[in-house]
Formats: sequence, C-alpha cells, structure tokens
Amino acid sequence: MKFKIHIYKIGSLFHLVSNFTEWHFSCSEYSNKAWLKKTGPLSKEEKKALKDFRKLVLKYNFERKFLGKPLMGFSEKIAWEKLEKLFKKNEFEKIKKIFKVFEPRFEKIWGNEYPRLLKWKQFLEKSNQNLVRNICKDLEIFYKSKLKNKNLYVYLLISGDPESLGGQANIGKDKITLEIGGTDFKRKNDVLQTLFHEMAHRKYENNYCRKLIKKYLKNHKLEKEIKKLGFAGKSETLLNEAITSSLIPEGYFTEKYFKKKIGKIDKKFIAWIKKNPQIRFKIRVYISRKMLNTTKDYIENKKTIDENYLKKIHKAYRDYLKIVNQICNDSRNPKSQSQD
Ligand SMILES: [Zn+2]
Repeated sequence: MKFKIHIYKIGSLFHLVSNFTEWHFSCSEYSNKAWLKKTGPLSKEEKKALKDFRKLVLKYNFERKFLGKPLMGFSEKIAWEKLEKLFKKNEFEKIKKIFKVFEPRFEKIWGNEYPRLLKWKQFLEKSNQNLVRNICKDLEIFYKSKLKNKNLYVYLLISGDPESLGGQANIGKDKITLEIGGTDFKRKNDVLQTLFHEMAHRKYENNYCRKLIKKYLKNHKLEKEIKKLGFAGKSETLLNEAITSSLIPEGYFTEKYFKKKIGKIDKKFIAWIKKNPQIRFKIRVYISRKMLNTTKDYIENKKTIDENYLKKIHKAYRDYLKIVNQICNDSRNPKSQSQD
C-alpha cells in the first residue's frame, strides 16, 4: 500500500464548520471545545451560519453529494470548481458566504495546526513499510480482497485538541481523512492504528464483505435495542464498525503488530462500561475484547470472514445489551447495585 498524504486548507475549513454544526455522531465535541477555548465563543453571525450549514450537510448527508467529497478530497481550486458544478447556484453562494464568516476564526486555528500537520505528514510518509505490508497481507485474506490499486490518498485535517484523533472513510474511492492537527505527537501508534482502521474500511471492505453482511441481515435482523446503541441506527454500519474495530485499533492487530495488550472483560472493565454505556467507543472496545480469541484464530489460521464471524459479532452486541439492561434493573433495585 502506498500512502499519498495531502494537506489542503479548504478541507480543514470545511471540517471545522461541519464539526461545529454537530450534524452527525462523528462530529467531535472535544475538537469544538478546544477550538472555542483558543478562539473565543461563537458570534451571532457564526451561529446563524452554522444553522444554515447544518441544513445543507443534513440534506446531502454521506450520500452521493456529500459536501465533504469535493471539499475534503481536492485542492482548493478544484474543490471550488467541483462544488460549483455539483450544486445549485444559491447553495454554492451560501457555502461561500458561510465559509467567509468563519475565515477569521479558522485562520487562527490553521496557523496553529498547519505546522503540526506538516510534521504528521513527514511521519506518515516514513511509516514502516514492513508493518504496512504485513497488515495488508492479513486484510487481504480476512476480507477476501485482492487489490488492483494499491494507492491510499490520505487527507490530513485539523483536530483541535491533543486528545482528539479521528478518521473517516466517506469521501470516495481510495480516500480517507485523518483529524490529527492538534493530536499529541506521543500518539504516533494511535494515529497509525486509526489510519489502518480507515484503510480497512476503504480498501478492503469490498464486495465480498458487503454481500456477506447483506445476506446475514436478510436472515438475522439486528434487534431494535442494538440499533439504538448508536452508529446512526444502521445495521450495516453497526456490523462494519464492529468488524473493523475487532481488528484495529481496539482488537487483535493492536496486540499483534503494536505489542499492546488488549485487556480482559473483568469486573473493573464492566464497571467502566456501566458508567456510560451509550458511548460508541466503549461498545467497540467491549466487542473487540469479546472477539479477541476468534479474531486471532481467523487471522493466524488465514480464515476469511464468514457468517460464523458475523454471528459472533451479533452475539457480542447482544451481550453488550445485557449489560445496558442490567443497569436499568440495578436502578430499579438499588440493593443489587451495591453488589457490583
Ligand atoms: Zn470505522
């Protein structure tokens, strides 16, 4: 796999405004908080602009005309050209106006995070080729996916906060975004793991896996309560996220390639989950731990993902639900709560 790393200002400007609208569960409140802390509270004009922008992003969502596709995956000049072609004149003008409102705030943030993005770019360009090759070999077998094109275009974006780190794989073929502008340089392994997670989504979660999931969902519906756990309530997303996480960063690859122990599901861990079980990250951690032995078996014995793997993922979601339901019972019966 060859990583082609790009940094475009327009992509980060879009990311900033889009993230501030909080239109999707993937918008990071930590990034927003960090940016506001550095640049002051939102003005009336900005709040109004965000309302307008939220409507626009929601209208096109992550579908064919997702605004991020032209705006995050191209250089400034091409981004505007594509935008003008894709959208009605009034919408195009509106987007331009909204971005103008945010420009002063964005410039301050960009000035701070751009040099850091350059450093991350250097780091990613020098990433260990052996490691990349070995992970790709495993993914190829697991997802039954032989790649013709081995380029992955990586677009780096601002993130605001040393603790903030994110990735997305929804701006088109062979492209991913990484939100790492503010991310602490100590977190190099975390950044690589996020990169590999998105790479798995983008490059390997192909026809074979998609068909498998479709077939599974035809025969086994995910319970309503599972869908309520998040990921926008989409069954495919719930399964895809759990599969990818069971590999990396929450799962077996992290143990295999980064020598970081994946913890056990013990009392302490369950207590941590119970504190706020609706957090998506916790669901991923739980399922990946539950799947650890199975994933190890599949990877080390060169097995391809199949119905059995999906069944186990589904079962892990059900087990997670049991913990959530247990809390409901606990709060109805305070005595049992004290036994935990
Ligand atoms: Zn994912």
